[in-house]
Amino acid sequence: MDHPDAPTIEPKPRSAAVDPNALDLLGNLPVDLAPTDQSANSQDREILKTIFGFESYRGEQAEIIRHVVEGGDALVLMPTGGGKSLCYQIPAIVRPGVAIVVSPLIALMQDQVESLKQLGVKAAALNSSLSFRDSVAIERQLRTGELDLVYVAPERLLTDSFLELLDDCDIALFAIDEAHCVSQWGHDFRPEYLQLTVLHNRYPWVPRIALTATADGPTRRDILERLELGQGRAFVAGFDRPNIRYSVQPKTAPRNQLLRFLADRKGQAGIVYCLSRNKVNETAAKLSDEGFRALPYHAGLDSSVRAANQDRFIKEEDIIMVATIAFGMGIDKPDVRFVVHLDLPKSLEAYYQETGRAGRDGLPSEAWMVYGLQDVAKLRQMAETSEASEAQKRIESRKLDALLGFCETTRCRRQVLLEYFGESDIPACGNCDTCLEPVSSFDGTEITQKALSCVYRTGQMFGAAHIIDVLLGGDTERIRKFRHDDLSTYGIGKDVSRDEWRSVIRQLVSLGLLVVDMEGYGGLRLGSDCRDVLRGDRRIELRRDPTGKRGAGGGRRGGKSKGPIDFGDPEQDALFQALRAKRMELAKAQGVPPYVIFQDKQLVAMVLQQPANLSDFAGLSGVGQAKLERYGDAFLEVITSRT
Ligand code: ADP
Ligand code: ZN
Repeated sequence: MDHPDAPTIEPKPRSAAVDPNALDLLGNLPVDLAPTDQSANSQDREILKTIFGFESYRGEQAEIIRHVVEGGDALVLMPTGGGKSLCYQIPAIVRPGVAIVVSPLIALMQDQVESLKQLGVKAAALNSSLSFRDSVAIERQLRTGELDLVYVAPERLLTDSFLELLDDCDIALFAIDEAHCVSQWGHDFRPEYLQLTVLHNRYPWVPRIALTATADGPTRRDILERLELGQGRAFVAGFDRPNIRYSVQPKTAPRNQLLRFLADRKGQAGIVYCLSRNKVNETAAKLSDEGFRALPYHAGLDSSVRAANQDRFIKEEDIIMVATIAFGMGIDKPDVRFVVHLDLPKSLEAYYQETGRAGRDGLPSEAWMVYGLQDVAKLRQMAETSEASEAQKRIESRKLDALLGFCETTRCRRQVLLEYFGESDIPACGNCDTCLEPVSSFDGTEITQKALSCVYRTGQMFGAAHIIDVLLGGDTERIRKFRHDDLSTYGIGKDVSRDEWRSVIRQLVSLGLLVVDMEGYGGLRLGSDCRDVLRGDRRIELRRDPTGKRGAGGGRRGGKSKGPIDFGDPEQDALFQALRAKRMELAKAQGVPPYVIFQDKQLVAMVLQQPANLSDFAGLSGVGQAKLERYGDAFLEVITSRT
């Protein structure tokens, strides 16, 4: 896109410096709150409306865009789905020259470029998947100034030949996407990101904007330091994802629990995470048998199979990807409606990142997890036997405590999550399982003492099932063989059901009061700080797991739940499906993912607002000039033929 009227903007002196040391431990950055002059925004607002089809900015977008348009450096921390892309895409269009966007993954680049092309913006990606000819063509366009944005992988950007090419270009800005890749703290470290300071040194007059959704303090500090962004402004948004409903259930019969959860979610896209490859294969097969369109994804599959499965997940609308954590990075699909964990993730950070892949489009989505004694025991053991340094082990063990605390909490899950990430004063959310079905707690000191002494008296070698049998006063061969019916703890827990005992034992393992011997036969032994409890010096508070069926479907309240997109009106539902079918037809014809044409959100708006002509259609959020021209008639026909 040409912008002949674009004013030439001289880089302004940089605004108040952000000293990385000024960050507090939680990573909170001082944000410059100086009042802003909105008049500079008229051109970008026009672009917001005519190209992107949006009426107004969200959150700090306006301020960030103004700052970058004026030539300032910025660090943008926003949650997934917060709207980071606009923060560099609009300045890229407004400012003269081409914006260079550093992006770590080919899949991410292609998605962004395709979405921009659909909006009529001149964008291209340079990466290793291109043929030599295509690369040369894009480089030529770059040199002649025909492009507004070029996405490039860091290793390509850093080559001498590419930098020499850039020397001849008018550069609008550098955007460094997924900026947390510069930090070794997280799991996406990319050494090439460390060399990106060359951009600053070679082109000091070009503004840089670094963006990430990673919330933790050490990562933020690394970004500021390692990208030498200390002179820029930091924009930090809250990290809540209000459209995601968090639910965590004790694992009883995981397959059936999963099937119950999925029962009224047929036709929706989702991810089911499992720890092992075997479990991925089994679960995907089981779901397929049950009539779901499920595909497996893990590092043990041939790379062509992985690529094909990922491609189907992106281009089709109702695929459930059953996967190990090898899957997910670089998936920008906005309409993932649920993320399931059949096994515990490694940490709360991992949980937040993995569940964050749900609902980027802002529509209601679910993060649903089951966990049980085995998971807890496995993670506890991994932490104990880890070969890391003592200091590292302490960190790991704290992270594990936080994760288990989240699982076992009786409070609002969102409060626990966000507090962990350093936010405070969070009201109970009303959109998690514990808010929807409050969980009570009770004084579990006595019941804990009973369990601990039973483990002790049986010699600290039996698994949970046998211990519970003894507590319940059961009559099993094992009990008779070991004469456990003679013990003082035999039958002392008759007043408690087997399920409740399971819940108690799981919680005691979570608390570290019992330890499962994973190397042996899963026998339970006493944890190191049991003494206080046995002596009666420490009070133990336990949660009463909800027993009703209500919790079983993911914390939804009675009755059949509505799917996330359910108009409650058969005609509207049918229109939505017809619009989806039209979108799929158009997407297939171009070989692009359906969501780059319109997102579900826009289809929902079409159903609710029923535009009768092109001018109504142009008024829908997300419909800019290019999309109006390309798709207005096709979708209007679907709408008007039914109304
Ligand atoms: P992020 O990169 O932060 O995960 P995106 O840039 O992909 O988020 O934006 C998330 C969603 O929000 C997209 O569907 C995008 O079109 C939409 N969006 C962004 N900014 C606005 C806005 N100002 N008004 C309406 N929708 C917006
Ligand atoms: Zn809540």
